[in-house]
Amino acid sequence: MADIATNARTVGFKQGERNVFFHLLTACNLNCRHCYINLPQHGSETLPKKTALDWLKLFARPDRESNLILLGGEPTLHPDLAEIIRSAKSMRYTVTVDSNGFLFHDFLERATPRELDFLSFSLDGPDPSVNDPIRGEHVFSTCAENLRKAVQAGFNTSVIYTVSNLNIDHLHRMPPLLAEWGVKRFFIQVIGMRGKTARGDDRKQISWQVDPGHWLRVVPQVAKEAANLGLHVTFPKVFLEPAETFECAGLVAENYFIFPNGRVYQCPLCEDYPLHTYNIKDHKLTKHEGINEDRFFPLSIPEGCVMNKLLQPDNIEYLADGTPRHRISCCLLKQEIVPQSG
Ligand code: SF4
Ligand code: SF4
Repeated sequence: MADIATNARTVGFKQGERNVFFHLLTACNLNCRHCYINLPQHGSETLPKKTALDWLKLFARPDRESNLILLGGEPTLHPDLAEIIRSAKSMRYTVTVDSNGFLFHDFLERATPRELDFLSFSLDGPDPSVNDPIRGEHVFSTCAENLRKAVQAGFNTSVIYTVSNLNIDHLHRMPPLLAEWGVKRFFIQVIGMRGKTARGDDRKQISWQVDPGHWLRVVPQVAKEAANLGLHVTFPKVFLEPAETFECAGLVAENYFIFPNGRVYQCPLCEDYPLHTYNIKDHKLTKHEGINEDRFFPLSIPEGCVMNKLLQPDNIEYLADGTPRHRISCCLLKQEIVPQSG
C-alpha cells in the first residue's frame, strides 16, 4: 500500500479546549495488573445519577469546546450511564465512554450512536496470549466481540492500547486488526506508574516502563502504519526534541480528572496522592487547601515534567555529564496522525 500518512504532528494544548475526565464509579469487573484505580485515594462510591448530573453541570461550558470522557472503574457498570450521556449531550459536551469492553446493562441497546460521540475499548494486545495475561482471562474475546457489535450498530469506536514492556513488541500487529474491525481511532498510551504498577504485588517482578530507545523505535512507526490503514492515531509525545518547548498542561490547558469521592485533579500523575487542586463539596468546586499539585506546575527543571521526575524517574536517562538525554514532556501532550484519505 502507498504511504499516505503525513508525519505525526504534536498537538499543542489548544486555547480554550477543556477536557473533563469523569470517573462515575471505581468499581470494575476486571482486575488488570496495571489498574490505575487506587481505592483509598479515589473512593469506592458509585455516584447517584442526580449527583453525577449536578457535577456535570458544574463543569459544563456550552460556549466552549468541552470533551467529556466517562470512565470508571468500568463506566458501563453504572446503571444510569445512558441517561447521563443524554444529559451531557444536552449540556453540549462531546462525549466519549472508555470501557473495558464488557458493556454491561445492555449498553449498546440503551445508548445510541447519535448521542455518544465515541465508544472506546481498552485492549493491550492483538490476541489473547498478549492481552489476557495483562487484563484477565477471556477478556480479549469478550472485548473484541463487543467491539465488532458496536461497529455494526453504527458507533464510532476507538481502541486504547497501553504500552508497557509486556506488550510493546506486539503493538505492530494492532493496526491491521483494528482496520479490519472498522475501528476509527487508535490511542496509544504509555504505562503510568500509579495505582497497581506503583503499589501492586507484582510491581517488583515486572519492569513496566519502556526505555526511550525502544519506545522511539516502535511507537512512531506503528502509528504511521496505522494511519496508512486509515486510522486516526494519537500517541503521547513523551520525549521532547531539543528545540521543542516544554509546557505543563496544569498551566496552559484545562483538564479535570474527577473522582467519585469529590477529588478533582489537574494532573493524572498525581492521582495516587492527596495533591488534588479542587474538591467538590456541597455541589460546589472548592480549592483544596494546602500544598497541592498546582504548586509544582511552575517549577522548571532540566528533566521537563516535575511530577515525572518525582514519581516515575525510571524513564529518564542521563548522559555522562549528568544532563538528561531527553526532557520528558507533559503526559498530556499528544502527537497525532490523521490519515489523508480521511
Ligand atoms: S478495566 Fe480499567 S478500571 Fe477495570 S481493572 Fe482494568 S484498568 Fe482497572
Ligand atoms: S504531567 Fe507534568 S507537565 Fe503534565 S500536568 Fe502533570 S506536572 Fe504538569
